[in-house]
Amino acid sequence: PRLVDPNGTEDEQQLEAALRPKKLADFPGQPRVREQLSLVIEAARRRATPPDHILFSGPPGLGKTSLAMIVASELEAPIRITSGPAIQHAGDLAAILSSLNEGEVLFLDEIHRMARPAEEMLYLAMEDFRVDVIVGKGPGATAIPLELPRFTVVGATTRAGLLPAPLRDRFGFTGHLDYYDAADLADILARNADLLGVPATREGITEIAGRSRGTPRIANRLLRRVRDYAQVHGRHVVDLTSARAALELFDVDDDGLDRLDRAVLEALCRRFGGGPVGLSTLAVAVGEEPDTVETVAEPYLVREGYMIRTPRGRAASPRAWTHLGLRPPDGHFT
Ligand code: ADP
Repeated sequence: PRLVDPNGTEDEQQLEAALRPKKLADFPGQPRVREQLSLVIEAARRRATPPDHILFSGPPGLGKTSLAMIVASELEAPIRITSGPAIQHAGDLAAILSSLNEGEVLFLDEIHRMARPAEEMLYLAMEDFRVDVIVGKGPGATAIPLELPRFTVVGATTRAGLLPAPLRDRFGFTGHLDYYDAADLADILARNADLLGVPATREGITEIAGRSRGTPRIANRLLRRVRDYAQVHGRHVVDLTSARAALELFDVDDDGLDRLDRAVLEALCRRFGGGPVGLSTLAVAVGEEPDTVETVAEPYLVREGYMIRTPRGRAASPRAWTHLGLRPPDGHFT
């Protein structure tokens, strides 16, 4: 598993759960979403009714699940947790919906991956608090409407654009999460070092924050490795020295690029003179499948302006050359 993968693994779930902020006030970053959410929650509280359905969209690892749990906790409501891929049949959803209690929060992670018939059942349930239970089969089948208590769907998606419009329209509020700046990541790390019971210096924390790709999940993972390093080397403190040494050992460089990211940039600049070069040629040069290069390395390299996608293939941008300490051939960028 890659240290800078923004997606979480099964093994990490417990570690992550222990670090999740419980209240909105303890959730650093995303000031806009926080303010919007706090209004929605406060208004619902005053009216003593469940709030509108809420959607969180944004890249993995930025806190969508954490916010869903915070919504429930701020409302003092129970939460039921499931995900789009777990709902393969409308019947799966009907079973969940019909067992919800008044005011409950239903968290649907990866909501864009729900099966189509379940999606249709969900619109109706969100809009009218009703499901049609189909009894019998064939021409004799009848739909028996079943009233549901008022509940709140909190959906999370990395691909808001993939949600069918009718489903998107059922959400009263969408919070768009964006990458964190280094200062917010440092706040998160300082708090988590505390929770983990390791002393940390400001410099150590800042060093980790700068290599975390704007993503709290990655920041937490790097923090755990730096803590390991500090403990094994008898330093017992997350400081600049342990942060640098640990992250060098794990191949995460100053900008948060790992070995694969750098291999791609090296190949682009050294072997292909900066490109453009086709994806499959580039992949062969780094000894990976094209799909790995495209889905694992490329998104961050493109987002951060190291690499550009052109109609003729992948090309290195000036930042790639600078990062590798290389000079592009004369006239390359003119
Ligand atoms: P997502 O659902 O968007 O993939 P999660 O909510 O599961 O992200 O967050 C991943 C990890 O990052 C969790 O351990 C969580 O505690 C941490 N995290 C995310 N955002 C924040 C934040 N703003 N403050 C503190 N920790 C955060």
